[in-house]
Amino acid sequence: MNELQLVVFLVFGIFITPILNTIAIQWDNRLSPAYPPTYCTSGTHLASRWSIMTIPAILSQTRRQCSTCGNGTWWRYAIAEPITGLLFVYSAYYFGFTPELIVSLVFISVLVIIVQTDLTAMIIPNKVVFPAVALMLVFRLFIHPMSIGTYLWGAIAGSGALLLIGLLSGWMFKKESVGGGDIKLYVFIGLVLGVKLTLLSLFLASIAGLIGGVALLLAGRYAKGMTIPFGPYIAVGSVAAYWWGEPLVQSYLRFAGFAG
Ligand SMILES: [Zn+2]
Repeated sequence: MNELQLVVFLVFGIFITPILNTIAIQWDNRLSPAYPPTYCTSGTHLASRWSIMTIPAILSQTRRQCSTCGNGTWWRYAIAEPITGLLFVYSAYYFGFTPELIVSLVFISVLVIIVQTDLTAMIIPNKVVFPAVALMLVFRLFIHPMSIGTYLWGAIAGSGALLLIGLLSGWMFKKESVGGGDIKLYVFIGLVLGVKLTLLSLFLASIAGLIGGVALLLAGRYAKGMTIPFGPYIAVGSVAAYWWGEPLVQSYLRFAGFAG
């Protein structure tokens, strides 16, 4: 893929973010097909891209808050847009014009939505995950670089492992530590990654969660008994496994003496 085509994917990612954000902000309401498909982060009104904190608005007007309600929760657009754009570009660079690129873009889109809902409301909505699982099931019938079974086993192993971890830690610490949303999300992730990378992604998500927890602790932001949303770490772990998992697994096997 050449530079111009990559730039197209960057712009595509940036311009699709308002739709993803609108779903993330409005997941508990009726999702009406609205135009412009952009919701103010206050969640109270539709807005044009130019009146809230989107990249175009910031570039053109140095806008710091919504022009209608004054809401200044800028990160939902000002951060989500470049992140989605960059992830789209890397996807395009990594997969080129292959069918798996479509899977990858849907994967990223779903993660961008659930990271936001988990951060703001500590929830990974069924309204988002169920359609995502159904869509990915259909995709995998036609797009499967590995055997279809590998992806089905990924869904079972990923959600099953997380359920097991949840039951065990619940029994040990007498506290629910794994949310049902995380478990259902792993059905979707398993369908995307296949069984080997799904298990790796759980491992990577746990490491990311541990680093995040220590960082909170060091920053003095951790309170005892506090619940930390795991969705963002799952997103980081599963994206890392998706793109760099294969070489990671290979170098580990070589290190452990299993492969030449
Ligand atoms: Zn507003």
